[in-house]
Amino acid sequence: MKFSLPAVAATRVCVAAVFSVLSCSPAAAQRTDYSKLEIKTTDLGRGVYLLGWQGGDSLILVGDDGVLLVDTSVAPMGDKIKAAIARVSDKPIKLIINTHAHADHFGANEALAKGGASIIAHDNLRERMAKGQYLAAFNQTIPPSPPAALPTLTYSDAMTVYFDGETVQLFHPPGAHTDNDTLVRFKRANVIHASGTIGGDGGYPFFDMSSGGSLAGMIVAESKMLSLSDDKTRIVADEGDPASIETLKASRDMLVTLSARVQKLIDEGRSEDEAVAAKPTKDFDARWVHQGNFVTGDTMTRLAYQSLKGVKPRTTP
Ligand SMILES: [Zn+2]
Repeated sequence: MKFSLPAVAATRVCVAAVFSVLSCSPAAAQRTDYSKLEIKTTDLGRGVYLLGWQGGDSLILVGDDGVLLVDTSVAPMGDKIKAAIARVSDKPIKLIINTHAHADHFGANEALAKGGASIIAHDNLRERMAKGQYLAAFNQTIPPSPPAALPTLTYSDAMTVYFDGETVQLFHPPGAHTDNDTLVRFKRANVIHASGTIGGDGGYPFFDMSSGGSLAGMIVAESKMLSLSDDKTRIVADEGDPASIETLKASRDMLVTLSARVQKLIDEGRSEDEAVAAKPTKDFDARWVHQGNFVTGDTMTRLAYQSLKGVKPRTTP
């Protein structure tokens, strides 16, 4: 049985996940009243602000050079992102970084790049946006993006941007949350945008295998962020308050243990349903499942099983 998302989302975490891919669908737009969502701006210091809206949260770096924006949210939220930026800076958006090709991270690209901003992303992100994609985990088709929304600068492994005295380091962890993630590290401010490789609000992290994500890649991505973190680092997920190094380490260790447990079940010849019945996440669920979170312990087991077994997700509806 394949993992599928509940049709109706009732709580923050679930809603955010649905936004991230269903925002292109008229049906979802009818279900989601974006006019009711507010941007919560949090000053993370050294010119870096978190713009949270319970979806693909954005970061901005503001200074004399202008504004650097990480992720543009869904299209209907673009004006609110613009207004939130205007409240902390009267400078234009100069650079946009898209962390990955889920729609809540690039949806307002065209509107927010209009003033002449360059858009930076991983090579695979541009390709996925240009071609359009089918996300089996959400049974959702995302149409090709218009040329004005596409990244203008792409990279393959790593890239460094020097902006207003800050060193912004971009790292691509292969096959993690997707196949096109960028971890964005603001070195001076000691902030990392995790590109969906940690769970929002401290929940189980999600990897989208139909976008080339994998359990093994998530472990590598979280280990990479750990290597860049100290006890003051703030790690930004899709939503919620930034995570600490303790939460990040606990998440990485949980994934490593889960991977070993599910691999053992696979090695014993268990089917996916039998692996779920064995409840390998039992002692993790109290910490990592939040009420209404679409990534439950059983979902996590299925994702892990399919990823470790190399089950190929559908590529068409
Ligand atoms: Zn995502």
